[in-house]
Amino acid sequence: MRYREPAICLRATDFSETSQVVHFLTRGQGVVKLMAKGTKRPKSKSGGMIDLLSEGELIYSHSGRDTLGTLMEFSESVVHSDLRKDVLRLNVGLYALEAAGEMLAEGDVHAEVFDLLHNMLIRLGQADAPVWAVLAYFQWRLLLHVGLLGALSNCVGCGDDVAQRADAGEDVYFSSRQGGLLCRSCEASAPEKYRVDADALAGLGTLLAVSAGRRQALGEPQARAVNRLLTYHIQQQLGKRLRMGRYVV
Ligand SMILES: [Zn+2]
Repeated sequence: MRYREPAICLRATDFSETSQVVHFLTRGQGVVKLMAKGTKRPKSKSGGMIDLLSEGELIYSHSGRDTLGTLMEFSESVVHSDLRKDVLRLNVGLYALEAAGEMLAEGDVHAEVFDLLHNMLIRLGQADAPVWAVLAYFQWRLLLHVGLLGALSNCVGCGDDVAQRADAGEDVYFSSRQGGLLCRSCEASAPEKYRVDADALAGLGTLLAVSAGRRQALGEPQARAVNRLLTYHIQQQLGKRLRMGRYVV
């Protein structure tokens, strides 16, 4: 079957002197893995060498799962050039690509994750973008869309209001396996847990408020702390570390 889809390049590896194997996140077909013949030739018919972050219209054919599809044409229409110029923004963007690609199984269709990634990369390229807050919203919404965000206001063990107990001076934990926050009484029996510091807890509070439609700014220390927590959660869910993870924690 032949498809025409808006697509973002998640991964590109050399296959031969002239060809690449390219993974795309498409809006309507999820993650697709394609053989891109001749893209590395100087005058390629299919649109030229494809790089990470390249975004545009993709035409390809695919016969089924577990096989590589064939790239027929790719025309780049969104050029993330400002993003590529700044090492921090570029690394954060590449982390977002990797996290999105790893969290979605092949053929798992999530148009809203495509839109989320597209909007995040555009925002990240703008000079005034608060990089860590942009990443925190991205990780939060990515987890929400794939159904793994978890319980982030009350303890998953006993249901107590965790923020209230933290105000009283108690430590708060997060367990990826149990899917949410744990109070001091419930964390003792959890083998896998992450201590949530005051900044991370404040950051989660802001993200919850924004999700509920309230306008609230996410400060940099809170955004960085919440990113460390959400990256921990994503890596626990995947059962592996992300290559770009060390650039964002
Ligand atoms: Zn509890």
